[in-house]
Amino acid sequence: MERFTLKKLIHMISQREISSAELVSIYFQRIKKYDHFLNSFITLNQESAEEQSLIADKKIQAGNYDLLTGIPYASKDIFCTKGIKTTCASKMLENFVPPYDSTVINQIKNSGAILVGKTNMDEFAMGSSNETSYFGPVYNPWDLERSPGGSSGGSAAAVASGIIPIALGTDTGGSIRQPAAFTGITGLKPTYGRCSRYGMIAFASSLDQAGLLALTAEDIAIFLEAMSGFDPLDSTSVEEPVPQYSDSLHNSIAGKTIGLPKEFFNNSLDTESQRILNQGIEIYEKLGAKITEISLPNVGYSVPTYYVVASAECSSNLARYDGIRYGYRDDNTKDLDDLYRTNRQIGFGDEVKRRIMTGTYVLSAGYYDAYYLKAQKVRQLISNDFEEAFKEVDLIIGPTTQSPAFNIGEKIDDPVSMYMNDIYTISSNLAGLPALSHPVGFFDKLPIGMQLIAPHFHEYQLLNFCHLFQQETDFHLQQPQAFLDD
Ligand code: GLN
Repeated sequence: MERFTLKKLIHMISQREISSAELVSIYFQRIKKYDHFLNSFITLNQESAEEQSLIADKKIQAGNYDLLTGIPYASKDIFCTKGIKTTCASKMLENFVPPYDSTVINQIKNSGAILVGKTNMDEFAMGSSNETSYFGPVYNPWDLERSPGGSSGGSAAAVASGIIPIALGTDTGGSIRQPAAFTGITGLKPTYGRCSRYGMIAFASSLDQAGLLALTAEDIAIFLEAMSGFDPLDSTSVEEPVPQYSDSLHNSIAGKTIGLPKEFFNNSLDTESQRILNQGIEIYEKLGAKITEISLPNVGYSVPTYYVVASAECSSNLARYDGIRYGYRDDNTKDLDDLYRTNRQIGFGDEVKRRIMTGTYVLSAGYYDAYYLKAQKVRQLISNDFEEAFKEVDLIIGPTTQSPAFNIGEKIDDPVSMYMNDIYTISSNLAGLPALSHPVGFFDKLPIGMQLIAPHFHEYQLLNFCHLFQQETDFHLQQPQAFLDD
């Protein structure tokens, strides 16, 4: 089956080559045919999507429509959707139907795009392999024995296989970029504060950010315009104008400086990935960029810093799930204490409980200064490193992951090795910076990603660099073999 870019779908709709109803029906057919291999969706929104497509077609016929009118998309199951189950891949929220839409979902609705379904993910976005989902793992379309990455693994697998053109994800420590790298697609985590967090179920509030997984930088640019901007309902969203990202895609990058942090190119990166990344860097040189080595001296502390800060915030955010107002409620408890304990014990999976316990520990009296406060200080040092670096360079390039996708089951029993997976992605969350991963080559028929990091609110620059790279290469056009048939 042909994987359509958003750009192509917009063109087809505007030329009346296809109707929105036909498009929606094509994607549901694809999902029905292929998703039992992938397990990338938790909930489908078929009836409502079909109804919306008919309304979209009326608008299109009347010539009264917007760029995204009638275009299907999917959302990670962490964004609240009014009247549609929102589970966060947890038993705790297995039957939760939100009474309101998150701001991002609302903005996209207003832009005319149609929500096809909610994608699978790690439970409460905690994980790097999509194996912590209560609804079972997602399988990588390039090799069904492998993980598509996490936590936005369902969105990544759905886009990479072609059963959806574009999908929402969230990235707290790499959950958009790492799955994008493992599945050979493009993923953007915007600047912290660029997209509203209102109605996006909180994991670690100072790190969480909504973003996109798509086939090209161009598609991300188009969709990002629809979902960015200040939201009075989110006190951490920033009043910064939203640029027309699509307008700067073709800018020349000649003379721009790219910094390669020496801490990213060390022996934790496998040699094949290193070789492939070097080839990618040469393409940027061919496009006129200047390459220089830089240092981010404190970036080596990113993983421990993140796992203190993120766990602390999660232990506080997840305190609200007690089965009393909502969430899993056990009927056989004897008193109030037992009710809290049982609901949380049965409602949460192992990884979520591990984080809550770690987080509670680092916030407790006597340990707060030694762990939480210390981590906050190191976080500031990491931020400062980037600030210094961006005085010298326009963009930073590095690997997204240490290696291509690992096997399902390979790391799930070893949390520390799973956590180390985020070694290259976490620092930009700690510093609130925008970052993108795009395909840069293949090793053993598995995709490899390259990561670009920019100063705050320079998403346009990430998309510009990536777009020019994608004009020169065809890695982003390679499709997984198992999904070629219609
Ligand atoms: N893998 C990281 C974690 O488990 C990041 C997750 C994310 O970005 N949501 O916390």
